[in-house]
Amino acid sequence: MSYVITIDGPAGAGKSTVAKDVARALGINYLDTGAIYRAIALILYESEVRPNDDYIMREALSKVRIELNGKSVLVNGFDVTGEIRTPMVDELASMYSAVPSVRKALLSLQKEQELHGSIVAEGRDVGSVVFPGAKAKFFLTASPEARAKRRYSERVSNGKPADYDEILRSIIERDKNDSSREISPLTMPDGAIYVDTSDMTEQEAVHYILDKVKEVIPNEAK
Ligand code: C5P
Repeated sequence: MSYVITIDGPAGAGKSTVAKDVARALGINYLDTGAIYRAIALILYESEVRPNDDYIMREALSKVRIELNGKSVLVNGFDVTGEIRTPMVDELASMYSAVPSVRKALLSLQKEQELHGSIVAEGRDVGSVVFPGAKAKFFLTASPEARAKRRYSERVSNGKPADYDEILRSIIERDKNDSSREISPLTMPDGAIYVDTSDMTEQEAVHYILDKVKEVIPNEAK
C-alpha cells in the first residue's frame, strides 16, 4: 500500500533537504511542491500575465503544461530547474501562489503524484489541502533569523551573491504573504507534529522525523 508523508513549513526551515533525506531513507519518492509554484510563477511572469488579471490568468493557465521528471521541472517541455532558484523567483512564487486560480490549476498535478507510489511531499499546504489523508504530517519551522542564516550560508557555499539583511527581509515578507493569503494559507495542519529546527542540524531533524514516522506508521516505514 502506498502512503504519503507531508512536511509543511515556512521558507528556509530546511524542508527540502530534510524531505529529500527522509524520502531517500524510506526508499520512496520526493515531491517538491514549491518547485511547481516557482515554475508556474516564472512562466506567468515571463508571459506578462499579472496576478490580478483573472481572465488572462485562466487563459494562460489552461495552456501551460508542467511536468515533473525525477529531479527536473519542465514547463511546456522546457527544463526550468535551474532558473527557478533565484531570489526573484522566490518572490514571484509567493505572489502568484496567492492567486486562487493558480492554486486550483496546480492541485490535481500535485494529487496525481500519489499514483506513482509512496511520497514525502513538502510545501505550505500539503498536509492541509493537497494530502489531508496523509499517514504522517510534520510542520517544520525555525526562527526567521535561523532560517536567514541558513539561506545565507547556502548561497555563499554555492558561490552566489548573498546579503544577510536582504535575505532576512525577504523571508519575513514571504512568511507574511504565505500566512495571510485567503486561500490555503501556511498553517500547521491538523494532526501535524511540530518540529522547531532552530537549534537542530538538518541530520538531527531527519532522524527525529524518521523516528516519528516509524512510531506512527510502523508497518509501512521499515
Ligand atoms: O518551498 P519554496 O520556497 O520553493 O516555495 C516557493 C513559494 O511557493 C512559497 O513561498 C509559497 O509562496 C509557494 N508555495 C505554496 N504552496 C506550496 C508550496 C509553495 O504556496 N505547497
